[in-house]
Amino acid sequence: MISEHSLPTPVRVRFAPSPTGTLHVGSARTALYNYLFARHQRGIFVLRIEDTDAARSRQEFERSILDDLAWLGLEWDEGPDKGGDLGSYRQSERSGAGLYSGYARRLMDENKAYHCFCSQERLEELKQECLSRNEMPQYDRRCGDIPRQEAEARLAAGEPAAIRFRVADGEVVVDDLIHGRTVFPAGVIGDFIIVRSDGGPSYNFAVVVDDIDMEITHVIRGEDHLTNSARQLLVYRALAQEPPSFAHHSLIMGPDGGKLSKRHGATSVGEFRRLGYLPAAIINYLALLSWAPPSGREQMSKAEMIKDFEIHRVARSPAIFDLQKLNWLNGLHIRDLDGEAFHKAITPFMGRAAGLASEGQLAVAEKAVQTSLVTLADAAGQLAAFFDQKPLAEAEEAAELINAASMRVLELALARAAALNGAAEFNAAGAGEEIEAARLMLSGLKQECRQEEIAPKQMYRTFRIALTGRASGPELPFLLAGLARETVRQRLEAARDFAAARLGSKGQAG
Ligand code: GLU
Repeated sequence: MISEHSLPTPVRVRFAPSPTGTLHVGSARTALYNYLFARHQRGIFVLRIEDTDAARSRQEFERSILDDLAWLGLEWDEGPDKGGDLGSYRQSERSGAGLYSGYARRLMDENKAYHCFCSQERLEELKQECLSRNEMPQYDRRCGDIPRQEAEARLAAGEPAAIRFRVADGEVVVDDLIHGRTVFPAGVIGDFIIVRSDGGPSYNFAVVVDDIDMEITHVIRGEDHLTNSARQLLVYRALAQEPPSFAHHSLIMGPDGGKLSKRHGATSVGEFRRLGYLPAAIINYLALLSWAPPSGREQMSKAEMIKDFEIHRVARSPAIFDLQKLNWLNGLHIRDLDGEAFHKAITPFMGRAAGLASEGQLAVAEKAVQTSLVTLADAAGQLAAFFDQKPLAEAEEAAELINAASMRVLELALARAAALNGAAEFNAAGAGEEIEAARLMLSGLKQECRQEEIAPKQMYRTFRIALTGRASGPELPFLLAGLARETVRQRLEAARDFAAARLGSKGQAG
């Protein structure tokens, strides 16, 4: 067996999605492990589209899978859109070109495969019989001994037939880079179909032919394919071909232990993208689901993962999807973006804010929210604090303004806001200065309040509620710098008037 440490050159791996749906995070993780392995080994990462199931395969799914993979940054070296010397990279095209039939004929000629004329109904009955005896459904080889001539005659007469692989006695050993050795007695496998009665190759056959033709050295995929690997190894053996090495990673489970599915929330890469997750955070999280670098570091860039990734360090245990951890990593990766990258990432999520402010104000506002976002989609709500004040009359928090101390804070703040009254409009070039001026103003206000025995906490809260109608949001210095001076003054005045009117009426009532 080829071990990871005695690699033939070059390493060639493939990701082989079926375009029957959008890219699930589980499949994205398979693609990622293949990608990291290939890049770490300076090998080739092939993308192959497994669309032999014509009824379920759709072109728009293929497009969206390619799009999501590219968005995740898992660029492939050969594939349907890129070409390559060992294509075509779409099974439907390979089938049309007769690439599978030659191999099937060879197996037939060597009596390693045979025509099966059993009807769907008969196969279904057989299956039910097996199940009623609590046995794994298995073909009973009824057509296994039909002489070749007789079979040819029936075919010539137009009788439909599939081609079945003849499973010899003995055992199959899957020597897996993650799972170790798994032994399958051939008896549990049963003769399986390699060419359907419509002439199309079955999954287990097409994959072997493709992996041979595409010179694949390592097959990395989910452990739901472990028994398929046993079947595929038999086909390699029958074709006298050296099989690739196998690595079957665990599947992603929901927190309740069931397979990750819709009922657990978002499951496709596209959904996470729309929810405001960064590709860097998603691949970082997916890699960590059952792998850790020797350093134990958690936040990693793609380049760092490539440098450290080794397939034998991937754990066998099931991977439990933990949204909290993804959120945490997403926040870290958001904070790490430089100004330009953050601006690009956040732009589609600006919502109404984009139309409500000048470019300069948006620039400060973006900076202000960058440190407090969990997902990019949180931006709209946080930016609302800047440009879309919640009317105090509708804000529950505004009740906190109606007391003498808060009124006093607002008076003092207003006096100081006058000092900020330089530019009527914020100017991005002066962002640093503006933020500094806002910090100074706040610290001066804090001291003044202290002298009057008003706690800083109350001062900050009052200030924030007055400006935004909300009790939490972006850091205050950014908020002040990002708002036009006139807006700050107007909002403070409005808050003071709001509080005064209610304090007054309270006084009258009492
Ligand atoms: N088309 C198969 C799937 O999507 C690929 C399995 C394999 O990697 O061989 O599950």
